[in-house]
Amino acid sequence: MSYKPLGKCPFCKENVRAIIFEENFFRRDQCKCPDCHGVIYVCRTPGCDHYARGGEYYDDELCPDCTKRFLGGGIIGGITGSDTK
Ligand SMILES: [Zn+2]
Ligand SMILES: [Zn+2]
Repeated sequence: MSYKPLGKCPFCKENVRAIIFEENFFRRDQCKCPDCHGVIYVCRTPGCDHYARGGEYYDDELCPDCTKRFLGGGIIGGITGSDTK
């Protein structure tokens, strides 16, 4: 079995090494969180090792952190620096 690098799971918010359970050549590898067993994918942002939520009909492209950064648009992002943790 192969593993992904350490990254934050969007479901349980733990740093986990995701288990690859379906290798894809055209799409992203489908992974599973070893902690909460949620379906996760590697975030599309280059250099980001966190994970995006996988769903039954729709898979997130970005991890929650990058989604927040993207939605913040750099206008309020970085000033408030609020962390939901
Ligand atoms: Zn998890
Ligand atoms: Zn990310």
